[in-house]
Amino acid sequence: MPRKKKEETIESKPIVKGKIKTPNVLRGFKDVLPIDQKYWTFLRKTTEQFVDDYNFQRIETPIVEESVLFERGVGKETDIIEKEIFNFEDRGGDKVALRPEITASVCRAYINHGMFNMSQPVKLFSSGPVFRYDRPQSGRYRQFNQLNYEIIGEKTPANEVELIVIGYNFMKSLGLKDVKVAINSIGCSECRKEYVTALVSYFRSHKNQLCEDCQNRLAKKSLRLLDCKEESCQALREEAPQILDWLDDDCKKHFVKVLEFLDELEIPYELDPYLVRGLDYYTQTVFEFWATDGEDKGRYALGGGGRYDDLIEILGGRPTPAAGMGLGMERIILTLKEKEIEVPELDAKDIFVAQLGELAKRKAMVLFEDLRKNGFSAVANFSKDGLRPQLEMANKLRAKYTLILGQKEHNEGTIIIRDMATGIQEVVNIEKIQKELEKRLSK
Ligand code: AMP
Repeated sequence: MPRKKKEETIESKPIVKGKIKTPNVLRGFKDVLPIDQKYWTFLRKTTEQFVDDYNFQRIETPIVEESVLFERGVGKETDIIEKEIFNFEDRGGDKVALRPEITASVCRAYINHGMFNMSQPVKLFSSGPVFRYDRPQSGRYRQFNQLNYEIIGEKTPANEVELIVIGYNFMKSLGLKDVKVAINSIGCSECRKEYVTALVSYFRSHKNQLCEDCQNRLAKKSLRLLDCKEESCQALREEAPQILDWLDDDCKKHFVKVLEFLDELEIPYELDPYLVRGLDYYTQTVFEFWATDGEDKGRYALGGGGRYDDLIEILGGRPTPAAGMGLGMERIILTLKEKEIEVPELDAKDIFVAQLGELAKRKAMVLFEDLRKNGFSAVANFSKDGLRPQLEMANKLRAKYTLILGQKEHNEGTIIIRDMATGIQEVVNIEKIQKELEKRLSK
C-alpha cells in the first residue's frame, strides 16, 4: 500500500526560531524607558507645583477629535493641517484626527460646557501627547507631549505676562538658567491685514530671489515668509516692512504694557520682529522660549504661545479673548540632558524584604503586604531566591534597611534587620519588626 502523503497544513510547519521579525517602533515615535523616567517625573512634579501656585484648574480632553476642530482652529492653510495632521475616517465614516495641539480642544470644551458662565478668566491646565506627521529628527517627533496652559475670558496684557512668567520660572526651576524669551506682536486681524498686503508686495518685488516654498507663501501663509530658514530669504527680510510699525493704537498700547510688566518682573526678553508662529489663531502677543547657550541656539523652541482673541468665536462660541502656551516636554528633557543638569533620582525605598527558602518566602510575602498596607515604603523581589542578588537589588534601590527572613528565622519567629549604610545586622522578634522600623525611620 502506498504511503499516505502527510497533509501539509500551516500548523504542521515548525516555527523556526529567529525568523519572526519583531515590529519596530514607528519612525518619529519613542519608547520612554525606565532609565529616563526620573526626567519625566521631575517635569511632572515641578509642573504640579506651578499649576497649584498659579491657580490653574486641570482639564483633560480626548486625543481624538473631529478633524474640523483643528481645520478651523489651527487654520486650513497651516503646515500642521496641510502636511502634518494624522487624519482618518473612523469605522462610522466620521472624519477624525489625532490632536496636533491642545488649545483648540480646550476651547471647544470651554464652549461645550458653557464655561463663560464661570467667573472669568478661566485658567485651564492640560497635558499629554500630541501628534504631527513632521520630518523626524532630534527634538522633533511625530508624537510628543505638551504642558498646556490657557487663560480664557479676559483681555489684559497681564494674561500673556503670567504665561511668560510661568514658562520662564518653570525652566529656571528645572535648572535651565539661561532661557531666552523671544517676543513679538503680530497685531489684531485688522491691522495685520494691512501689514500682510505691504509684506507680500515687498516680497513679490523680489520674487526671483525667494526660495520655492516662499514663492508659494506669497499667495497664502504670507506671515511665514518672515521665518524662512533659507539664507537668501533671510537676507531679504532685513529690508521687509516690520509688523511693529503697522500696529494700530490698541495693539501698540497692549504690547507696550506687556513689555513694561516683563521689565518690572525682570524677565529678560528679546524683541523678535520675525517671530510669527505656525498656527493661524494667534493675535497680538506671540512668544517663545529658547535655550540660549551652546549649540541649542537656533535649533528649536522649548515652548511658545500667545494671545488668541478670535479662536473661540471661530469655533462657534461668543467672542472671548484668551491667551495660552504649550511647552514641549521632550525638548526640555533633551536640553536638561545636553546641559548635564542633575535631576532628582526617583524616590528611594526605605525597606527591602529579602527571603531564603520556600516557607520563609511565604511569610515574607505576607510581611511585605502588611508593610505596604501600613504605609511603609517597601519593596521585594520574590522571583529571586539567593540572598546576594536580593541584597544587590536593595542597594540599587537605595533601601535604608533590608529585612532578611530565612528558614531559621521562620522557625524561631524572628527576622534580621540589616542597616544598609553600616552593614550592621540585628535579630528582632518578627512581631515587633514594624515598631522597630517606625522607630528607626523616624530618627
Ligand atoms: P507649537 O504648538 O508648535 O507652538 O509647539 C509648542 C512646543 O511643542 C514647541 O515649542 C516644542 O517644544 C514642542 N514641539 C512642537 N513640535 C514638536 C515636535 N515635532 N517634536 C517635539 N516637540 C515639539
